[in-house]
Amino acid sequence: MKTIAIVATGGTIAGTGKQGKTVAYRAGEMNVDEIIQSIPMIQDIANIKEYQLMNIDSNEMNPQRWIELSRIINEIVQDEHIDGVVVTHGTDTLDETAYFLTLTIHSAKPVVMTGAMRPATATSADGPYNLYQAVCLATHEEAHHQGVMGLFSNTIYSGRDIQKVNNYKIDAFDQKAFGCLGYMQDHEVYFFSKTFKTHTLNSLFSKSSYHDLPSVGIVYFYAGASCQLLYDMAKNHHGIILTGSGSGNYSEEWLSAINDLSSQGIIFVRCSRVAQGIVFDDDIFDPHHYCISGNTLTPQKARVLLMLALTQTTKREEIRKIFNEY
Ligand code: ASP
Repeated sequence: MKTIAIVATGGTIAGTGKQGKTVAYRAGEMNVDEIIQSIPMIQDIANIKEYQLMNIDSNEMNPQRWIELSRIINEIVQDEHIDGVVVTHGTDTLDETAYFLTLTIHSAKPVVMTGAMRPATATSADGPYNLYQAVCLATHEEAHHQGVMGLFSNTIYSGRDIQKVNNYKIDAFDQKAFGCLGYMQDHEVYFFSKTFKTHTLNSLFSKSSYHDLPSVGIVYFYAGASCQLLYDMAKNHHGIILTGSGSGNYSEEWLSAINDLSSQGIIFVRCSRVAQGIVFDDDIFDPHHYCISGNTLTPQKARVLLMLALTQTTKREEIRKIFNEY
């Protein structure tokens, strides 16, 4: 039987509240061994090694904790007796951690993230089944070399593209135009596609270790948004992700602030507040091509990539290449 490490970080999957109810609970209350005990059939699938790394609501996740989580997983996967890793995590910021791990884990072994929308004390909690399937996926031969994955509601997602798209329903994740990597039926795994973008073993960022990350902020454009928002953000950030309208767009007032701050060395990435599509370079909204296109990344994922990119280089053209590759 394979051995799977479960690295627990908290979230609703470890949440407790009024017996049977789905609201007014606290995330990150229950230890992972209690959750595992509630899923006896896991013992038929794999030997489990538990690591209770933290027990937080994922809104308390931050770059320091990403670094710690990535370091621990990189240590665990070095152990030849460990065949795969499952990470339990709150759903709110899971997309960001998933991309950070996609870029920084140096292994071909399966790393699967999962969580829950209903606390462990709810009637029909979704956590135990998600965790069961995540462990099954982590034992599967075809799950090697897939990069970090997310597993929710019978569906396998890529760590690069997974997004939380519903804040209320159980089926809360998607990867939009890219569908999914595959499906599961109970313990059975069915892969249908692969991510084309560089990840894990081949990622430049999985070859370094980190103590901290450069600061990158996100500014949201809306009708009438003042360019002062950009100047304020630039005071203590090396890079800024623009959440533009449409194809990553903004007003002329913003454009002149972006030109001004770019010439002072701030790195801008253009993303969009629209849920689907792609942001390309644009001669009208960025005539000097100061900005880097976020392509299909959400603003919060583009922030993860820019933080890591800035650990390697501050040259705009090199960062542009990184955004095309990852
Ligand atoms: N607030 C929770 C968290 O992200 C939500 C969840 O896990 O579903 O930790």
